[in-house]
Amino acid sequence: MTRKNKIEYHSYTEGSIRYMSCMTCGHYTVVGDSATGVRCSNCVMKTMMNQYPVEESKSYKPTGRPAGWHWMNEFVDKDGNVFHKGKEMKKLKGTLPSTKVSPPKKKKTKRRTKQQMLLAMDAERKAELKKAHQKQKDFINHNIDKG
Ligand SMILES: [Zn+2]
Repeated sequence: MTRKNKIEYHSYTEGSIRYMSCMTCGHYTVVGDSATGVRCSNCVMKTMMNQYPVEESKSYKPTGRPAGWHWMNEFVDKDGNVFHKGKEMKKLKGTLPSTKVSPPKKKKTKRRTKQQMLLAMDAERKAELKKAHQKQKDFINHNIDKG
């Protein structure tokens, strides 16, 4: 086992500030003295997005617990688990009726499919082209009139 696979990414210092090339995109970013490899904020964001895709929040799995249940003085879930301000009271399990949770109001969001979005974009682009074309025509006509 050798420890030769430690890669030093390219870095430089400017005054007292050290910059290092981002491991992923090569963009220089401010680092501490001891850093051997960094990711710029953009790539960190990207990584985070990959790890916690936005999809996740969309496919919200209902736990049967209302939002903010852990702030409630007492909350009993459907299995009889008792929580006091989010802290599980194991001793009290099954001794209390479960807290009634009114289902969250369903928001009706008009979600466009990708296909619809592409169509809308296409229509927009066509409209722009038409406008541009008309402008050109006007321009030409104008010139002809003048001439
Ligand atoms: Zn980067």
